[in-house]
Amino acid sequence: MSEPGKKFFHTLSLRYLVFAGILLAVLLLAGLAGFIVYHGSLQKKADEAQMIYKDLLDFRSLLHMVDQQSRTAPENPEVIQEISRNTKLLHFRLSNLQTRAEKLRMKELTSWMNSRQKMLGTMLAESERKKGTGDAVIPMIALELDDVVFQTAIEVRQAGQRVYDTVQQFFFVVLSLLIAIIIFAGWLIVSNYRQTVMPLNQLADKLRLLNEELPESFHDTAEEVKKDIRPDEFSKDVNQITDSIVRFCQNIEVKNKKLDELFIKDEKTNLYNYRHFKDHLIVDVARAKRFDEKVSIAMIDIDRFKAYNDANGHVAGDIVLEKMARIIREECRESDIPARFGGEEFAVLFSRTDSRKAIEIVERLRSVIEAEPFYHEKELPDGQLTVSAGIATCPDDAADWYSLINNADKALYRAKNTGRNRVVHFRELADQNGNH
Ligand code: GH3
Ligand code: MG
Ligand code: MG
Repeated sequence: MSEPGKKFFHTLSLRYLVFAGILLAVLLLAGLAGFIVYHGSLQKKADEAQMIYKDLLDFRSLLHMVDQQSRTAPENPEVIQEISRNTKLLHFRLSNLQTRAEKLRMKELTSWMNSRQKMLGTMLAESERKKGTGDAVIPMIALELDDVVFQTAIEVRQAGQRVYDTVQQFFFVVLSLLIAIIIFAGWLIVSNYRQTVMPLNQLADKLRLLNEELPESFHDTAEEVKKDIRPDEFSKDVNQITDSIVRFCQNIEVKNKKLDELFIKDEKTNLYNYRHFKDHLIVDVARAKRFDEKVSIAMIDIDRFKAYNDANGHVAGDIVLEKMARIIREECRESDIPARFGGEEFAVLFSRTDSRKAIEIVERLRSVIEAEPFYHEKELPDGQLTVSAGIATCPDDAADWYSLINNADKALYRAKNTGRNRVVHFRELADQNGNH
């Protein structure tokens, strides 16, 4: 397709095509109605000309009869009376024919009839005044009439021909229009097929394949769809659709990322949630057992937090929670998984970490919190906000993930029972039990 043609179709929206189609249909209907009216009036004129022609023939017969009468017995009073009556009839018919011919704009016939009708009128007036019969008028009219009849026959034929020609022209116009419409529609269908139907089919196939293969992310789908966008070759509608799909995928990708965050994070502290902690713990414990590695966890609980809440309110308590969560995050390593276990308890998963390293990290964390100033902490019975922590290590202290949590919890209770603001490893409990 030529460049201007491409551009024209490119900007041609379906709306405009439908509008143009309706306009064309209305114009065609109006044209058809106009033709029917015009054809009807032409046919009426041709019929009327035919009637005038027939009446003219009757008029000629009557005229010949009067002419014959005036020649055969011109002295007979009865015949004279008959002639006078027929002449009146001739005058009347001629006047009637003249009016009808005038309406049809048969100019020559009208003017001839006008003058001959006047002659007949004068002749009648004279015969009534007994000044003579005007014998020369009727033969003269009879003589001229053959020529007039001939001329009228020609005009009648012309009127019929006009009707026929008009029908022919109409069909020619309709045929030309139909051919033009068929060519335009064909061009439209081919262009539409190339620029809309084919790209849409390709797009549908691509989306079906992507769906079947379940791409890693909507980002990949957007990239795949973007690859095939050819704005110069596709119609405006297809470009809009592909653009929308790309934007849709990109939006979903962003939202999915947010959902992923929400799925694994705790809203209040922005630490990981229990679900995420547990999922990683199960995997890490299994790997530690299989590869003879160590994995440690710490359960951390704020000391006498109820008293702090009671004294300062839950909003201030939440600020403390957030601040402690930030410290825990900062003191942990990139590979650790600090989580909010529930309420004012935290849990940290130390992958591939033995008890010594875990104790070192948690001890540092405890001392940072101890040193950190908190709002109104001086009014507490202990004069400061602190945490207690219990640590357990797999596979030394437990063989499965829930025993590991339980044992870290036991160590935490030991820390609580032995004065709080302390870090206790589960091994200490076992050692003490062994000593007893
Ligand atoms: P202990 O030293 O024995 O742990 O004493 P405690 O007062 O901290 O222990 P307890 O279990 O009796 O109280 C825990 C308190 O933690 C009770 C509850 O009001 C508070 N708490 C739990 N979750 C939240 C929270 O999301 N926000 C606030 N502000 N407080 C919470
Ligand atoms: Mg507590
Ligand atoms: Mg608690």
